[in-house]
Amino acid sequence: MGAMEWSGGQAERPGRGRRVLVVGGGIAGLGAAQRLRAHPAFSQLRVLEATARAGGRIRSERGFGGVLELGAHWIHGPSRGNPVFELAAEHRLLREKDLSEENQRMETGGHVGLPSVTYASSGVSVSRELVVETASLFHSLIDQAREFVRGAAAPAPSVGEYVRGALRALAAGWTDREDARRLRLALMHNFLNVECCVSGTHSMDLVALAPFGEYTVLPGLDCTFPGGYQGLTNHIMASLPEDMIIFNKPVKTIHWNGSFQEAASPGETFPVLVECEDGGCFPAHHVIVTVPLGFLKEHVDTFFEPPLPTEKADAIRKLGFGTNNKIFLEFEEPFWEPGCQHIQVVWEDMSPLEDVASQLQDVWFKKLIGFWVLPSFESVHVLCGFIAGLESEFMETLTDEEVLLSLTQVLRRVTGNARLPAPRSVLRSRWHSAPYTRGSYSYVAVGSTGEDIDRLARPLPEDGTEAQLQILFAGEATHRTFYSTTHGALLSGWREADRLIALQDPQAQLPGPQL
Ligand SMILES: Cc1cc2nc3c(=O)[nH]c(=O)nc-3n(C[C@H](O)[C@H](O)[C@H](O)COP(=O)(O)OP(=O)(O)OC[C@H]3O[C@@H](n4cnc5c(N)ncnc54)[C@H](O)[C@@H]3O)c2cc1C
Repeated sequence: MGAMEWSGGQAERPGRGRRVLVVGGGIAGLGAAQRLRAHPAFSQLRVLEATARAGGRIRSERGFGGVLELGAHWIHGPSRGNPVFELAAEHRLLREKDLSEENQRMETGGHVGLPSVTYASSGVSVSRELVVETASLFHSLIDQAREFVRGAAAPAPSVGEYVRGALRALAAGWTDREDARRLRLALMHNFLNVECCVSGTHSMDLVALAPFGEYTVLPGLDCTFPGGYQGLTNHIMASLPEDMIIFNKPVKTIHWNGSFQEAASPGETFPVLVECEDGGCFPAHHVIVTVPLGFLKEHVDTFFEPPLPTEKADAIRKLGFGTNNKIFLEFEEPFWEPGCQHIQVVWEDMSPLEDVASQLQDVWFKKLIGFWVLPSFESVHVLCGFIAGLESEFMETLTDEEVLLSLTQVLRRVTGNARLPAPRSVLRSRWHSAPYTRGSYSYVAVGSTGEDIDRLARPLPEDGTEAQLQILFAGEATHRTFYSTTHGALLSGWREADRLIALQDPQAQLPGPQL
């Protein structure tokens, strides 16, 4: 094993305390570090981050004359009680209207708002009436899918199979002409693809039905950060000593249940030793692991030594973690109407009731659900497309030119304008290829339950006979009801920091809220 690395510095305060390492500098890790830093028992604290930047899946980049969110986009459920909303409001990172009581009270049921316009692949726009009617039917089926959490036996293993089953029964009673019926089903297919983006999955057939309703939707009309989501993690960073986070420090293996020593602390033993890819080693009393579930899935057999208990390793394997990406297109002139916020794209040859076997390279772009018009860009005109699943992962392997060409052809086809000018440039996220993320966010997959989230979140060792709380687990995938979100991630970081504080200082008054 390599050199022991634990130097003093601003991050260290005088006096001996518990040595804590946080692995991962996303919002969960930063939140945990900020909370621990405020307690005197945790004077020796470091965050090890694999990449050159903090924020993880909160990633705002300047581009096309504005801010592009490559990761988290909206605050889901921005209302009092949502810690991300509260922090963002406190730091004045939101627009006035998003702070209003009226916005906070809005109940969206977690459904994506209606598109401003819907284009179909034959080059016509779909009637508003049909879109509204189909969306309302789809949303009611999703609402019903959430009800099985209340105890009624789930009639299908997955949300996808449940929705398709209900749809098949309904469609049998439709008396439309064949083309109208196809269009209805094509719209349904698009709404299922939207749901794949929401759940971060390839197919809703992979998302378990019975626990689907455990995910909790908070009130409030989803809102964005005009200056970028990363303003939030930058604020947390600014409250920490500069040398507390060590960048470009990927952790390779966490050795636990041991008795490690270092020359600089004679006589002291540490139960955990964190070994980095560059050979550096950090002995510690406690480690909070916040790496994404996608990373854990790939490295579950080597990241922990001794290996994880079978139940926890199985939970990591069973829970779902898929891909959702964004494709930003910059245009010289908008082809959309003023005030247009969201363009839906529907493929009339697609139906949730039929399986068509095709090569990814021929059809990947049909998974793209449409585009959001980015509002904060004044001189340039930018659309943000969303695409989930294997098609999204395939898109990551293409060149910018190939993506731009395919999407230009899509837009020309659906608008019926063969001369529509091509976008000036393209920029996209590639979350599946990112070695320290390997996808976008988690979901409860068929074959797993919410209990697996709790199993993942349980600290080690589990029996309590050894030194306690050697490894703690945080990150969005460890929050039973807010998984996949920034507020779930932040709350999970606070939860684990509070767990350590309570061990050291049972009298401590822990700050709320604990949703
Ligand atoms: C495209 C996209 C859109 C999204 N949209 C939204 C949205 O609109 N609203 C919302 O609430 N949420 C959204 N999310 C989800 C949200 O971004 C995440 O849930 C949240 O940011 C996760 O925070 P985290 O701290 O758990 O993980 P991360 O932010 O992933 O942080 C984990 C950190 O660990 C580091 N790491 C990994 N491996 C190692 C290692 N071996 N050693 C050291 N460090 C390591 C990583 O580099 C990373 O910085 C979106 C995510 C994506 C990808």
